[in-house]
Amino acid sequence: MADELPLLEWERYVDRLFAPEDEALLAAREQMKLGGLPEIAVSPSQGKLLHVLARLAGARRILELGTLGGYSAICLARALPEGGKLVSLELDPRHAEVARRNIDRAGLTAKVEVRVGPAASSLQAMADAREPAFDLAFIDADKEAYPDYLAQVFPLVRPGGVILADNTLPRSVLDPQSPAGIPRYNAAVAAHPGLTSIVVPVLRTRGIDGLLVSIKAG
Ligand code: SAH
Ligand code: MG
Repeated sequence: MADELPLLEWERYVDRLFAPEDEALLAAREQMKLGGLPEIAVSPSQGKLLHVLARLAGARRILELGTLGGYSAICLARALPEGGKLVSLELDPRHAEVARRNIDRAGLTAKVEVRVGPAASSLQAMADAREPAFDLAFIDADKEAYPDYLAQVFPLVRPGGVILADNTLPRSVLDPQSPAGIPRYNAAVAAHPGLTSIVVPVLRTRGIDGLLVSIKAG
């Protein structure tokens, strides 16, 4: 809004104080730019929030939908203990390639596996293969598919585990009639008897963004 100070000021303050990017994160962002990937990775503060939540959850196994260049994967994988694992699902093989290099530069190759293909197919394959349960899932792939992802991700997360969803406060949520994926995801999560949830607003330069945090019933 025109009469408000730009949120950028607060975002800069938070990033500088709590989330300064180290070499691996700076390089990851740079490589995504050089590779022509869209600039839609989580911000430094959002990445730090993911990291802190994964640590709070004591996560040993993490599932990510939407790898892009591996920025959020690095933030999450850094929260894993020795022997921990993050599986990240990505549709675009070029994104996956950039991500693998970034993850390697961050020294996290042993902990992170990027699986290429539509997330829905990879999730189905995981269910079929009886993949061990995850402690935390981070949904950040195709926004229109969020409601379907919820149905597939829910059984893959252990009781008491955490489901996070990025970009959950777009303008479309303010329209009660909106048929878009995110408002439908938010409504489904809010009404889900097996989830206790709250959407956390996060500062972004161009407005606010939301991280929807859900805990699965134990
Ligand atoms: N989590 C990343 C950003 C992900 S951007 C970060 O914050 O660093 C969304 C990603 O989802 C893009 O790389 C896009 O290629 C991928 N994507 C889009 N549709 C997908 C699908 N159906 N299955 C898997 N990945 C998909
Ligand atoms: Mg996102």
